[in-house]
Amino acid sequence: MTEAPHAGLAVNGTPYESVIGIECHVELRTQTKMFCGCRNVFGAEPNSNVCPTCLGMPGALPVPNRLALELLVKAGLAFGADIPAFSKFDRKNYFYPDMPKDYQISQYDTPLTQGGLVEFWVRDGTRGRCRLTRIHLEEDTGKSSHAGSRDGRIAGSKHSLVDFNRAGVPLMECVSEPDIRTGPQAVAYLETLKRTFVALGVSDVKMEEGSLRCDVNLSLRPLGSSAYGTKTEIKNMNSFRSVERAIESEIARQAALLARGERIVQETRGWDEAAGTTHSMRSKEEAHDYRYFPDPDLSPIAFAGDDIARLRGELGILPNARIERFISDGVPLVQALQLIDTPGLAAYYETAATLSGKPQATLNFVLGDLSRLANETGIPVHASRVTASALAELVALVDAGTINSKTAKDLLGRLWADGGSARTLVESEGLAQVSDPGAIDTVVAEVLAANGKTVADYRAGKTKVLGFLVGSVMKQSRGKANPQLVEERLRAALETTGVS
Ligand SMILES: [Zn+2]
Repeated sequence: MTEAPHAGLAVNGTPYESVIGIECHVELRTQTKMFCGCRNVFGAEPNSNVCPTCLGMPGALPVPNRLALELLVKAGLAFGADIPAFSKFDRKNYFYPDMPKDYQISQYDTPLTQGGLVEFWVRDGTRGRCRLTRIHLEEDTGKSSHAGSRDGRIAGSKHSLVDFNRAGVPLMECVSEPDIRTGPQAVAYLETLKRTFVALGVSDVKMEEGSLRCDVNLSLRPLGSSAYGTKTEIKNMNSFRSVERAIESEIARQAALLARGERIVQETRGWDEAAGTTHSMRSKEEAHDYRYFPDPDLSPIAFAGDDIARLRGELGILPNARIERFISDGVPLVQALQLIDTPGLAAYYETAATLSGKPQATLNFVLGDLSRLANETGIPVHASRVTASALAELVALVDAGTINSKTAKDLLGRLWADGGSARTLVESEGLAQVSDPGAIDTVVAEVLAANGKTVADYRAGKTKVLGFLVGSVMKQSRGKANPQLVEERLRAALETTGVS
């Protein structure tokens, strides 16, 4: 589905491509856990948000969290997924010390959503598409801390601690088809999921808190081949940058093995951030290892057409549609992504651009002077004293020729510090641009009279001094003169008044 193969990848002179699929786990933003009333919060005192249900006590029964079901359906609808009329929960059986029931409630063959398409923009300007296989709902596990682990809580003898606060937190798993070909495409795909889930309120998607975790499946094959090579699964990446690096490292490792005529082993590999390499963790489990069977404690799920229509209506304008609009406004791709990924800035720009009717000029202020002021002061643009309507007014004043860009820049600094209205300042302080040729000619004559030597230099061919003369006229007019007109009148005066 995607256009660009991995540029330059070859094994013993034969062009190859990498084939990448991504499984992405995202914690849902709910008040309570998936099957009990315990709070779903990050960073609480260990084992303080637990109850018999999420601790897997005998006899405790799960009750599904309706909001979690709806959030997941919204996530699917945002990418055009189908919502099957029948869905159920299954038990995925395996032993982990941080999973008290010895099984995880998940979904095996009847996920809540099926299919869908994620369209994304790669930062090099290319576009890509990746089909979704499914999005299903499950519960998160608890968390173990081992002696010598980074949190440093455990000193001395070798032992482990387990925190069940995360056990039972609603988790959605987005499984993609193997449509991705490069590391940058993988990052663009994940960024698109992330910004869409944040916009929908489905998740806060904080990778540093583990609310988005992803595994990458990767194999190589000769370019043009439709058969898949043997794949490995890479885990433990904790940032999008790590995903990109891990993919590059694994492509290089597999290509080197194939070049030596060796076999790729199907296995799970861990990413080592410091070493910049992947290492073998274990051989890959097969689905039958988990003895999936329907959870007898939970009834099947059937979303009514009315509910699906209501959830579809709640999607709002999605980030991809907003990026499309920015691009059609003339915003370059990199800046469109910068806008959409800076909280509050995109909405600020959209409001100001709509009010002024001048998207390009508005964008120049937002990403230029306003972003500079934001960096200098640490105040985000949208939270500053320059309201979107004040900016729109300023843009309109420049566009109408009422003020020049120098005055606009000065005014912006004052609005940033004190707030208020650009139009009021222009009127009360007489800052309107002077575009009267007669008035400008008067100042031009004064400047020429005071700079006899420069005038002589100009007439002797040193035309570069014109800039100095323009600057002098602008200064004398206290920055209010129309700069184009100043230059025009200066040239006319220098070339027609033939007195040396
Ligand atoms: Zn609980």
